[in-house]
Amino acid sequence: MQLYNFNSGPSILPQEVLDQAAAAIHNFNDTGLSILEIGHRTSHFVEVVTEAQQIIKRLMGLDDAYEVLFLQGGATMQFMQVPMNLLDENGLAAICDNGVWGNKAVKEASIFGPVKVVADTADKKHTYINKQLDIPNNTTYLHITTNNTVEGTQWHQYPQTNALLIGDMSSDIFCRPTNFKQFDLIYAGAQKNMGAAGVTMVVVKKEILGKVNRKIPAILNYQKHIEAGSLLNTPPVFSIYVSLLTLRWIEAQGGLVEMGKRNQEKANLLYHTIDSLPAFYCPIAKEDRSIMNAVFFLTNPALEAPFLTLCKSEGMIGVKGYRTVGGIRVSMYNALPLSSVQAFCDLMKSFAEKN
Ligand SMILES: *Cc1c(COP(=O)(O)O)cnc(C)c1O
Repeated sequence: MQLYNFNSGPSILPQEVLDQAAAAIHNFNDTGLSILEIGHRTSHFVEVVTEAQQIIKRLMGLDDAYEVLFLQGGATMQFMQVPMNLLDENGLAAICDNGVWGNKAVKEASIFGPVKVVADTADKKHTYINKQLDIPNNTTYLHITTNNTVEGTQWHQYPQTNALLIGDMSSDIFCRPTNFKQFDLIYAGAQKNMGAAGVTMVVVKKEILGKVNRKIPAILNYQKHIEAGSLLNTPPVFSIYVSLLTLRWIEAQGGLVEMGKRNQEKANLLYHTIDSLPAFYCPIAKEDRSIMNAVFFLTNPALEAPFLTLCKSEGMIGVKGYRTVGGIRVSMYNALPLSSVQAFCDLMKSFAEKN
């Protein structure tokens, strides 16, 4: 049976990335060694890191004011590593709490300094993005989750601020052209839109570092990682390599312009189908809907279980909503072809006709 992979993360990767990764497990770049066996300080691997950093900067249009790091601990570690490196008792972190992930960023930052939640959208179950931010003058940084993976909302225009701007882009990194220069620090766990689990990309503007009044353990200190060229300790070699393969694939396909075109087309098709079928509804404000993760419901909740059973029998993987949200979530990351969204929409239509 053909499978359609709508997993929210770890998620679908391009077939050629999987093929190349599999080949490298047996013989990496004709070294006669597996990618799992090579030394991380050999020229073979340093080239992998360097090329991945170069592609990331090219895709983002960033110059040498920024550094690209490959760290561990997931995006979750960034919830604490960002404030540990940027926030102390004299500063203020302004954080948008638009759902599960933003909420974690709030909790972790509070350990390191004062925090103000500048937008909390719990009043409407996080079905919109509150863009009216009241950011105090003395704010050190504003933190946003650019795409709310669980709730299905996305910032389509980033907020303007005099404070530093920090973006958790874990679930919409490289999904379309974006003004990355607006940000001072961007992080993204790789497993949603740029590779395999185990590595987190951090892109940081160097001049913002070294200003907090605190000692930072080396392994958590961005500056130490920069000095060590992202090789402070043994990095997740294989995960970084899969990211490199995915980054090469993005460029070969036509870069972020092409990704954006494809993703918009997929999202348009799915949202149009939801909106045109009375059996389904999407509660997310139209202007804030995510092109990566569509969250929607059955108008008759009793039909949710039968619909999910049908999805399973038709090979539609990963479409059950997050446990605290319920409903349906369809993730449409870069590697997902339009034909998969078409197949899903056809299934929705035939289900709606029969019920
Ligand atoms: C998945 C996700 C995270 C958590 O990532 P981990 O790599 O599991 O730590 C954080 N933020 C966002 C927006 C996510 O989608």
